[in-house]
Amino acid sequence: MIIVMETKATRDQVNGIVARVKALGLGAHLSEGEERTIIGVVGSPLPPSLEDELEIHSGVERVVRITKKYKLTGWDFHPQKSTIAVRDVVIGGDALTIIAGPCSVESEEQTVSTARAVKDAGASILRGGAYKPRTSPYEFRGMGRRGLEILATAREETGMPIITEVMTPSDIDVVGEFTDIFQIGARNSQNYLLLEEVGKAGKPVMLKRGLSMLMEEWLLAAEYVMAQGNPDVILCERGIRTFESSTRNTLDVSSVPVIQGMSHLPVFVDPSHAAGKRALVPALALAGIAAGADGLMIEVHPNPDHALSDGAQSLTFAQFEALTPRLAAVAEAVGRRLPVGADVAPVPA
Ligand code: PEP
Ligand code: MN
Repeated sequence: MIIVMETKATRDQVNGIVARVKALGLGAHLSEGEERTIIGVVGSPLPPSLEDELEIHSGVERVVRITKKYKLTGWDFHPQKSTIAVRDVVIGGDALTIIAGPCSVESEEQTVSTARAVKDAGASILRGGAYKPRTSPYEFRGMGRRGLEILATAREETGMPIITEVMTPSDIDVVGEFTDIFQIGARNSQNYLLLEEVGKAGKPVMLKRGLSMLMEEWLLAAEYVMAQGNPDVILCERGIRTFESSTRNTLDVSSVPVIQGMSHLPVFVDPSHAAGKRALVPALALAGIAAGADGLMIEVHPNPDHALSDGAQSLTFAQFEALTPRLAAVAEAVGRRLPVGADVAPVPA
């Protein structure tokens, strides 16, 4: 249910409604637009008489039951595109944001050199895994806390915010000590207890699409995070499992406009995990921007052939540098702007 407040509703009137909703044991989430405040009411069961009761409160314009399963992620609750501030980077709204970096943090030299290279080429957020979900238990599973410290060093050296994956509720504290954005990986995208716990951690969350996730399931997973009072969720399409085996996954480009039609949340595309092969990454990245994505997440490594994870799909520095002006050109063609080249402030030496 959403409660649409009148444009002239006072703060006291909004607070009064929130208090009433909470007294009924329901959740109340505010969406404060430029013109009016919308209060999203979640929880069940909603008392049948609630609409009638709330509609007569002063300051309330109307009360609307949302019949869709997803609520806080939908446009009814938040009629403007969401924006998320991460240090001095803004994600969502009109912004176009490139996240880049290695699949895994392997050493300080590898991570800091990658951070510098991708920042110079136009990326504004650094990625890197310290706790890695690997298909085989015998593969490199990340450096753990030391990897987080290295990411923090790279942030200090370059000023770039960082994103890294958290795989289990018991790691949320240590990852949260360092990261600016929590990444929830494709394999954990329907781990509802993890989603709830990360929703309480007070930092933005990027939610990868699961390998076989429907659009509605994806939004409901995001809903688990948002229902904990965290509005800052970013969705990331990273390819899904299909019968096709020439790529690692199949990039579902259509998910970008489809999910944007359903939700106000920023939507990113990860061409690297979709492609699985570095030669295909540029085409999928360009397609993501053309489809209207709010950003990309791309794996880049100083020496991909020797990477400890996902080397086959990681771009070299030169390949990433060659790609960003092309991304900027496609962005311009679809009415967006991606600052690259002379528009990017150089990283201090
Ligand atoms: C990653 O970003 O390195 C990763 C493991 O991604 P995904 O969860 O999409 O497979
Ligand atoms: Mn990877």
